Amino acid sequence: MNLFSTEKLEAIYPKIKAILEEEIYPLESKILTLPFNKVKIELDKVRQIIKQKNLWNPHLSESHGGLGLSLTEFGQISELLGSTPFGHYCFNCHAPDIGNQELLLSHASDAIKEEFLKPLIDGDIRSCFSMTEPEFAGSNPVNMATTAVREGNHYNINGHKWFTTAADGASFAIVMAVTNPDAESPYKRASMIVVPIDTPGFNMVRNISIMGEEGEGYFSHAEIKYENCKVPVENLISNEGDGFLLAQERLGPGRIHHCMRWLGICERSFDLMCKRAATRDLGNGVMLGEKQTIQHWIAESRAEINAARYMVLHTAKKIDEFGTKEARNEISTIKFFVAKVLMQVLDRAIQVHGALGITDDLLLSFWYRHERGSRIYDGPDEVHKSALARKILKGYGLNIKRK
Ligand SMILES: Cc1cc2nc3c(=O)[nH]c(=O)nc-3n(C[C@H](O)[C@H](O)[C@H](O)COP(=O)(O)OP(=O)(O)OC[C@H]3O[C@@H](n4cnc5c(N)ncnc54)[C@H](O)[C@@H]3O)c2cc1C
Repeated sequence: MNLFSTEKLEAIYPKIKAILEEEIYPLESKILTLPFNKVKIELDKVRQIIKQKNLWNPHLSESHGGLGLSLTEFGQISELLGSTPFGHYCFNCHAPDIGNQELLLSHASDAIKEEFLKPLIDGDIRSCFSMTEPEFAGSNPVNMATTAVREGNHYNINGHKWFTTAADGASFAIVMAVTNPDAESPYKRASMIVVPIDTPGFNMVRNISIMGEEGEGYFSHAEIKYENCKVPVENLISNEGDGFLLAQERLGPGRIHHCMRWLGICERSFDLMCKRAATRDLGNGVMLGEKQTIQHWIAESRAEINAARYMVLHTAKKIDEFGTKEARNEISTIKFFVAKVLMQVLDRAIQVHGALGITDDLLLSFWYRHERGSRIYDGPDEVHKSALARKILKGYGLNIKRK
């Protein structure tokens, strides 16, 4: 029992752990060697088992068929699921679907909920989120060029997006596009619109190759051109000009989910590192773990993971009790701090394994490739650090305007 645990969590946690151990960890060797769509059939069987055991959608309230956990409780489940690459996917709480579910639940019309949210919650379809554009700095997305022009009962969308994660095989995208170019505040110019991917004018250019891997299905990042892509005006989420407001709301809890998932990766990597250090014989019976450098890496990793976990759970508790706005500084802090811990722990674990560490025989290289983006997406490190420092310096009387 830890300081952030609850009776409810204590009851659910072992059940989820058992499913990981019995059903998901045994599939990992396939995950490392086969394309997503080849493993999907087996993952779908696991998803059915999870539904039957009433552990599906752990992030949602009980009234929406979930487990009714607080963010602090779900964060701890997210860490557990993060110990394996498809943990979140199997429980239907993977990004970007988890953020899209929460967004549609809070802000979509009943008709959109029925057509798009219900099958998403049931796990029958996937979705994606399409905001970043190759021609403009995504770290300051107010400069986007994609437009959605109202023509009668439709929005006509034109623009170029990339890094739309998991668009391949998804059923719809939530697209961020400029609807109100003349609004005085740049933060009131864009809107979020639901676009079914079979709409004419939704043109997938490619899955972007990342560090030698294009990926497919859920594990991919697409480049998309929206070319006279027309959708009914009813597909607007909330009001015109609310896009950035909704994006902010979507990102707060999302950063808790990501950070706790990264800590799941850290713990698994740490475990692999320690096992290797304890068993790798350097000759004459001297074990790798007897070397001081390795001992320091183990000790530093333990301290960093523990510190990171307390920071994230403290932030989650603050969001639970006071809301996202009150926890803005903490959210920025965990985003860059935990991403750094993740990179350090993964790198040490790889180094301890020597050549084996960079092979695809272990999960470490998979995570090294897939998680380097953690320091970039949902706000690059530098943006969060500057935002935090600006707020701290404001307390000292220095008002720095964001340029
Ligand atoms: C794995 C992954 C998945 C993603 N998934 C999605 C998705 O599903 N949907 C989507 O819309 N987008 C997605 N993105 C895109 C992501 O949101 C952007 O990459 C991010 O916002 C940064 O934008 P950019 O790549 O244009 O970098 P830029 O904005 O060009 O920034 C480049 C670098 O400049 C530095 N920098 C930027 N601003 C500052 C500053 N103010 N001060 C100091 N330094 C600064 C940072 O080091 C930054 O990394 C994903 C990205 C990755 C890597």
